[in-house]
Amino acid sequence: MLRSLPFSSYRTSSGIARKCGHADRPTWARQTRCNSTLANLEASRVQIELTNKPKSRPDLVDLKFGKYFTDHMLTIPWKAESGWGTPKIHPYGPLSIEPSASVFHYAPCLFEGLKAYRDEKGRVTLFRPDMNMKRMNSSAARVALPTFNDDALVELIKQLIRVDNDWVPNKAGYSLYIRPTFIGSQPAIGIAPSSEALLFVICCPVGPYFPKGFKPVALYGTTEYTRAAAGGIGAFKLGANYAPGLVAQKMAEEKGYVQNLWLHGPEHHVTEVGTMNAFAVFKHPDGVTELATPPLDGIILPGVTRDSVLTLARDHALGKAKVPGLTDKLKVSERPFTMREIKEAAEAGTLVEFFGTGTAAVISPVDRIGYLGEDIHIPTGPDGMGPISRGIWQQMVGIQTGAISPHPWSVVVME
Ligand SMILES: *Cc1c(COP(=O)(O)O)cnc(C)c1O
Repeated sequence: MLRSLPFSSYRTSSGIARKCGHADRPTWARQTRCNSTLANLEASRVQIELTNKPKSRPDLVDLKFGKYFTDHMLTIPWKAESGWGTPKIHPYGPLSIEPSASVFHYAPCLFEGLKAYRDEKGRVTLFRPDMNMKRMNSSAARVALPTFNDDALVELIKQLIRVDNDWVPNKAGYSLYIRPTFIGSQPAIGIAPSSEALLFVICCPVGPYFPKGFKPVALYGTTEYTRAAAGGIGAFKLGANYAPGLVAQKMAEEKGYVQNLWLHGPEHHVTEVGTMNAFAVFKHPDGVTELATPPLDGIILPGVTRDSVLTLARDHALGKAKVPGLTDKLKVSERPFTMREIKEAAEAGTLVEFFGTGTAAVISPVDRIGYLGEDIHIPTGPDGMGPISRGIWQQMVGIQTGAISPHPWSVVVME
C-alpha cells in the first residue's frame, strides 16, 4: 500500500505512542495504526529449521574477511499493519525480494557489526551487544524503518550463535563476525516509509586483522570528498554512507596510502579513518598526555570501540580502574581537532600517536598522513603501537577474549 504521509508525520508527539504502548513502531505507524494487534519482536516465537547440508568449514589459515558464512541465518519480517513477524533461524541462503523493493531504489538499509569470541575454556561471549542494538535502532529510526526491542534481538542472535556454535573459531585472535542487517522491502516504488521490512543476521568466522603483528598504516587526508554533513547521516550505520566512500578509498590507494582520513570543513577537522573512529594523542608542556577524539556532533559514527576506549581511559585517569602500562597523567577529551594541530604537533614532537578504532581491527595505528602534498610522520613503537593504544588494546582484547573475566561488557552466549 502506498503511503502519502507528509514528512512531518514522523514527528508526531510521542505521547500517542506511550498511550498505546507501541514504542516498537515508527511514529507514523503508531499514529496511523494505533491498534493493539501490532506484534512486538519476540524471541520466544522463534522457529528453527536446521540445515541437512552442513557446509565444509573453511581452513582458518586462509580465511578472507566476510567470505565464508555459517550454516544458518536469522530472518524477521515486519509489516506496518501487523508489526513484527515470526523470527526464523534457517539454513543460510538467498533472499527472495521483489525488484520494486524500496531498498533497491531509495536505500533504506542499515547494518551492524559485532563479534562473538571463544575463550580458552570454550565459553562464547559477545562484546557489548546492547550498544550495537541501541545504534541499530537509531539507524532504523533515521530511515523511517521500525524500531524493535533491543533485548529480543540480542536473545535471537545468541540463539543463532548457539545453533552455529561450532563455527566460532577456537583459536586466539579469531572470532565470529555477526552482521545484522535491516532493509525496507515494501514492493512499491513510491517514496514513502517502507510498509514492509526485513531484518536478517548472518555470521562469518574471521581471523586477526593484523596476522603478523601490528602494521601501522599510512592515511591520505581526503580534501576532495566529504563523508558526512550536519543534519545528514554520518552518525548512523546506514548502507548509503559506504558506497560513496569507495572512490575516496580508491584515490588514497592510488596515491600510495592504505586508507583515507576523512576531513571536514574549511579548517580540515579530523573526523574518521576510513570506517573507523579517529584518535590522536598529544603531549602537553605540563607533562599531561591527552587522548583526544572528535565529539559526537552528528557527523561522527558512535563506535562501540570508540566508547570502550574512552571509558577504559577515563576510568584509568579517574583512578577507578587502572589500565596497566598507562601514564597516570592522562587527560581524555572528546573535542574537535584540525589537521593544522596534528601537523604542528608532529613538527614540534608533541604528537604521541594517532590511531583508528573499530570492531574489525580494535586499534589500527597510523604512522603517516599525506596532507596537501606533504607527509606528516607519526611516531610508533617497535611493536607498531604507541604508549597509550598499547595498554588500551591489551585491556580491550583481554576483556573480549575472556582473559579479564568476568566483565560487564562480556555477554555470555554459552558456557
Ligand atoms: C562501524 C564504524 C565505526 C566503528 O564502530 P565500532 O562499533 O567500533 O565497530 C567507525 N566509523 C564508521 C564510519 C563505521 O561505520
